Amino acid sequence: MKAKTKPTSARKTKAKEAKMQKKNYEKVWENCLKVFRDNVSPQNFKTWFEPIKPIKLENNVLTIEVPSQFVYEWLEEHYIALLRKTIKSQLGRDGKLEYSILMDSVGAQGKPYTIKLPGKTVNKLKNAPVMAPLNLNATIKNPFVIPGLKKIDIDSQLNPSYTFENFIEGDCNRLARSAGYAVSQKPGGTSFNPLLVYGGVGLGKTHLAHAIGVEIKDKIPQKTVLYVPSDRFMNQFVDSVKSNSQNDFVHFYQMLDVLIIDDIQFLAGKERTQDVFFHIFNHLHQNNKQIILTSDKAPVDLQGMEHRLLSRFKWGLSADLQNPDLETRIAILKKKMYMEGIELPTDIVDYIAYSITNNIRELEGALISIVAQASLNNKPITLELAKQMIDKFVKNTVHEISIDYIQKVVCDYFELPLELLKSKTRKREVVQARQLAMYFSKNLTKSSLSNIGIHCGGKDHATVLHACRTVGNLMETDKKFKSYVTDIQKRINISREG
Ligand code: ADP
Ligand code: MG
Repeated sequence: MKAKTKPTSARKTKAKEAKMQKKNYEKVWENCLKVFRDNVSPQNFKTWFEPIKPIKLENNVLTIEVPSQFVYEWLEEHYIALLRKTIKSQLGRDGKLEYSILMDSVGAQGKPYTIKLPGKTVNKLKNAPVMAPLNLNATIKNPFVIPGLKKIDIDSQLNPSYTFENFIEGDCNRLARSAGYAVSQKPGGTSFNPLLVYGGVGLGKTHLAHAIGVEIKDKIPQKTVLYVPSDRFMNQFVDSVKSNSQNDFVHFYQMLDVLIIDDIQFLAGKERTQDVFFHIFNHLHQNNKQIILTSDKAPVDLQGMEHRLLSRFKWGLSADLQNPDLETRIAILKKKMYMEGIELPTDIVDYIAYSITNNIRELEGALISIVAQASLNNKPITLELAKQMIDKFVKNTVHEISIDYIQKVVCDYFELPLELLKSKTRKREVVQARQLAMYFSKNLTKSSLSNIGIHCGGKDHATVLHACRTVGNLMETDKKFKSYVTDIQKRINISREG
């Protein structure tokens, strides 16, 4: 048996008190978490609430530690009402919330430290301006600003048509867009420095990067902003080495207020360029100048990029652009049509949006070439023409049918609203349509059974399997039903063959 040293009774009481206290705030926070879990999506819960640590409860003020300034701002912007209500329900009317923010973006040698901010839950943050989605009041003032310092007027290389106004917002880009907008309102003055926007080809990285620059120039014209694709940056550097003017190159870049480098994945493996970029980055960052980067890969997947650069990217925010959903695709097409003065029947717009799902550049390209083709040949724009053109766009691949599209064809065929098919209703005609949609999705797409189920009224994979069998059986026994299947198959095929 091991002997234990007994604490003196005073120490014991203190330890007991501390333990009690700990229990208290942990318990309170646990209860809060239960409420949050019930009120936000699992994804949001995981992203925003799970990383929070309660650290103390004193005078009815609960202090929580959040991992970054960004999380703090996001919570205050998006969950203020929920936080306020929950805290009050746990601590009573005078319950308060205070944040402690773990900061790790203080500079190369800076140790992580904490700053304290009272929760706006106390002051009520009401009617935050719609266009400035993030509350940035709490950021630290830049001590380096020298008022009146004039800089050479440089050409920003920005494309004035890539604006925020033209950048349609959707679930696919909300975080990147709002972070970008926040940056444009306070370049260098937010915690999103650097802001790294990443995502696949044609999803709007370049557009968004320009939009930030355009907005800054619009609001604060005296800011020097430069947009540069990474390959141009690299070539300029190589030239400067050749002509022995490397210092000028570096000085030029260090003078900027806002540096936007597009497609930094091209710097992979280019050690010397990365090295010089590292120094420029540090200089700008230390002077609270804004850096905006885009990449076609997430930072973790950027191979051939120096570790010290990657670790600096983490100082700010990496936000991704995802494939746009159907609604966003239609909105983008409509915006483009409006800007170009094009009018098209809805079924053609829908068709384009249904067919091209993962590249906005192709989406716009398809629209423009359909219009161009029609006017060139002096033909009306028909669905047939649209189909022909689109197949050129979605070239080389057998045009993949989506579950969305199958559902649309089935619903059109039975003249049912799409919502009904996606609902849980058990009405006979809806059940039949839903089973047919499942059957075609299984046969014509690569989707898993469970994915098909999710898209068709939230069913599980067994239900989808059962639906497929039922359709098979009915086709053999019921002539009318069989003719439904053939008709729908034909309609789906039109879109495949063009
Ligand atoms: P990336 O740089 O990611 O390859 P781009 O920024 O060049 O993509 O975007 C491709 C095209 O799609 C551009 O014409 C751009 O204007 C358009 N685009 C992308 N996202 C949006 C959006 N959310 N709203 C409107 N247009 C968009
Ligand atoms: Mg681009």
